This record gives sequence, C-alpha cells and structure tokens, in this order.
Amino acid sequence: MKLIFEKSITDRGHEIFPSTDVPEYKLDSMFLRNKKLHLPEISETDVSRHYTELANRTYGVNNGFYPLGSCTMKYNPKLNEEIAKLPGFSDIHPLQPEYTTQGCLKVMKLAEKYLCEITGMDYLSFQPAAGAHGEYTGLKLIRAYHNERNDEKRTKIIVPDSAHGTNPASAAMAGYSVINIPSTADGFVDITELKKVVGEDTAGFMLTNPNTVGLFDKNILEITEIIHQAGGLNYYDGANLNAIMGVARPGDMGFDVVHLNLHKTFSTPHGGGGPGGGPVGCKDFLGKYLPLPRVMEADGQYKLIYKNENDDKAEYSASIGRVKEFYGNFLVVVKALTYILTLGGDGLKNASENAVLNANYMMNQLIDIYHMPFAGPCMHEFVMSLEELKHDTGVAAIDIAKAILDYGIHPPTMYFPLIVHEALMLEPTETESKETLDNVIDILKKVYKEATTNPEDLIQSPKKTPIGRPDEVKAARKPVLKYNFD
Ligand SMILES: *Cc1c(COP(=O)(O)O)cnc(C)c1O
Repeated sequence: MKLIFEKSITDRGHEIFPSTDVPEYKLDSMFLRNKKLHLPEISETDVSRHYTELANRTYGVNNGFYPLGSCTMKYNPKLNEEIAKLPGFSDIHPLQPEYTTQGCLKVMKLAEKYLCEITGMDYLSFQPAAGAHGEYTGLKLIRAYHNERNDEKRTKIIVPDSAHGTNPASAAMAGYSVINIPSTADGFVDITELKKVVGEDTAGFMLTNPNTVGLFDKNILEITEIIHQAGGLNYYDGANLNAIMGVARPGDMGFDVVHLNLHKTFSTPHGGGGPGGGPVGCKDFLGKYLPLPRVMEADGQYKLIYKNENDDKAEYSASIGRVKEFYGNFLVVVKALTYILTLGGDGLKNASENAVLNANYMMNQLIDIYHMPFAGPCMHEFVMSLEELKHDTGVAAIDIAKAILDYGIHPPTMYFPLIVHEALMLEPTETESKETLDNVIDILKKVYKEATTNPEDLIQSPKKTPIGRPDEVKAARKPVLKYNFD
C-alpha cells in the first residue's frame, strides 16, 4: 500500500480556503515558514479511500478474536462511548469553575467509591494515565510512608520472577533497588525464597494475583503477612482484574496499595498508545500521600482539594504532588463508571466468572494437544509451552502465532511470562461466545497438526496478510515513523 505522500500529484492543487474578503494582514517575515508546507495533493475521494484502506488493515476486537494474554482485549460496549461523548463530559475545560462541573466531579467521586469497593481500598486517585504510571505512583506512596517514619533504610522492593516487566522497571524508576525472587515449579510465590530476602531494608513487595501464569496464589494471606511483619508494604498490580472483580479483593488479601488498568478490565478500548487510566488506590493510612487535586464532597457539593505549597503543615502537605496535569484521563473514568453502573455488582461478578470459565474451557479443550506447564484450573488466562514442539519439529511459539493470523485471529501474548519457555498466553475474556471459542480451538488444533506434518510450510506463515514476516528486531529498534521528503 502506498503512503499518502506517494499518492500525491504535484501541482494538482489543494486549495481548501476560499479567497479572503477582508484585508490580508502581512506577518513579519521572521514568523513565516521558510519552506513550503508538505501537504499531499490528493482529492477528497482518494483521501477518504486511503484512510478507509488503512482502517481495514487495522485489527481490533471488532474484527475478531483477540486473545492477548494479560491485556484483556474484551469487547467494549458502545454505550460507554456514547456516554463519554455527551457534551457535558466532552466539551468542558479543566480550569472551569467548580460550580459548573459538579456532574463531572461527581463522576470521579462515584467511580472512586465503586473502585474502592471493588478493590477493598479506602481512597483512589485517577491521575496516573497507565498501568506502569500507576505503579510508579503507588511506589511513591510507599516511599512517602517510610520517609515520614524516618525509616529510610528501606530501599528494596521484592518482585517475583513471574511479574509483568513494568513492576521492576517502575520500582527502579521510583528509586528502589529490585530483588527478584524465583517462583516455585508450579508457578507460585516461593515462600522460602521470600523469607530469605525479606528484612529491615524491605520497602515493599509487588504481586499480581492471579499471577501472570493465570494462577491464584492461595498462600496470599501468609505472603502479605510476611512483608507486613518485616515492616514493608504490599503492592497489588491490578492491571488485569478480570478474574476477581466482585469475587475477591486485594484489600482483603493484605495489600496496601493497588493500581487498576481501566483500559483493560473496565472496558476502555486500548492499543495504539492510549488514552488509558491507571488509577491508584490505597488504604486509609496512605491516603494523605495521594496525588492532588482530589475530589471531596461536603453537603452534596463537590470540590477539588489542592496542595498548599506555602504551608507544609497544612492537611494535604504530605501529598506526593502531581503525577499528571489536571485529573487524569477523565473520559476514561466516565467509561469505567458507565461500565460499572450498567453491569452492577452482580454483573461484574458474572463477567469475572465467565472470563474464568472461558479460559478453563479453552485450556481443557486444548490440553491433549498443547503442553500446559501449570496444572489447572486457571483463572482468566492460561499459558502453553511450545518447547516440545519446537524441539521435535522446529516450529516455535512465534510460528504458531503467525500461522493463526491467516485464520483471522490475533496472536496470543508470546514469550511471556519469561519463566515459561516458548510461551503462548491466551486470555479469551468473558465477551466471547462458545461458538467463537470452539472455532478458535479447532484452528489451534489444525495448526498444531500442520506443525507436526508439514513444518516447512507452516513456518512460511502468514500468507494472507498484507505483510508476512517483518524483521521484528529492526521493526522495534529502527522503526521508520516519518516520511522522508528528501
Ligand atoms: C498491562 C499490564 C501492566 C502495564 O500496564 P500499562 O497500561 O501498559 O502501563 C502492568 N502489569 C500487568 C500485570 C499488566 O497486564
């Protein structure tokens, strides 16, 4: 497919403004562009076709099955978009007087209340714009807590090796050193290893539960207690809450801080870089460190509380400050609240139960063919290892992922979690029907068979997509993101 600049015909002309009927104002030459602006010269019809062609090449949940593990690519109800589009939400300015935005402030307060209920936290800030951003913010809360107690020797964050890569990265960004602990052979936190590293220098512990191999750690109360006994705090990576919404709460598992990805579990479409929402919730004793401004309610009136920079004795002076301009991605909060209100408490629970059911169904239908390194039942996702297949046939996890592209299926998460070799991680989500799952199961079985009978052919896949096998390293390290006019 040609780029729009390659479709441009020089001097075709693309005047879109009518000639002016008021006197022209001549700008000083120092303000003028010294090169002609690069605009493609192309007719409106062709512009429209160009972007339609691009849109048709984009793959999303509205095109088909998208089992990207850990990312929760579920169907996002269109109703949420409709509500977020209402002018009272979308045509406002962040600096408008509070009395004109009472409804918006109420949305934030209500969403905070429900998300606290869902996570078992007491307060929540919507400022962080993504999961990793939430982790960073949450770790800053932990740091503020230790610092205020003059407990500055706590410089280490413990992270299991099954963690999402953002966990150690955020801990390092927040100024901590990271201690990695191995998991047990069956995929859980190794309590013996944990006990070996925990101590007076432990600032905190980060965990996802269910973890990134799709397993719920039943020792969670013991684990969080070990950290608390040592004086550390527990951080819950709740980027993906799709297995436990309405069923279990991080706050009840002994966690002090949590972040959620509204763009995963709470139905904001994601991919392509945002906008997202990574709100951070915390227990009561950490509330005073949360970023400001926060929404407060008194007598049915909502107002924003800011930090008083000139008075470090003031009530909110302990706040870590801002982590983003204004209040976070507000329309993402509107969508999350709409989602919560449409489903209700029972509906959210039901969504989680179906997410777990769908994952277990798929896993059990595939278990005779694909190797599952961890015994089930799984939670919202499961991991397969293609190590044996690769050994026997040369067909690797990436080849299976590429092969299913020809059947119109988005690849699962590949080579993650790092503790499983040749990993494919599938998260079907609750919004897929049994018929869709059955179809995908058949395709995965078929592709596996091809891998064993005709591996040379299979590793040529995909054959039906616009691009076959790009150089993945080059695409990641040397992306060409702009048109070179010279
Ligand atoms: C997606 C994810 C993150 C990171 O979220 P971003 O919004 O991409 O920064 C962190 N932890 C887990 C477990 C995730 O699945």
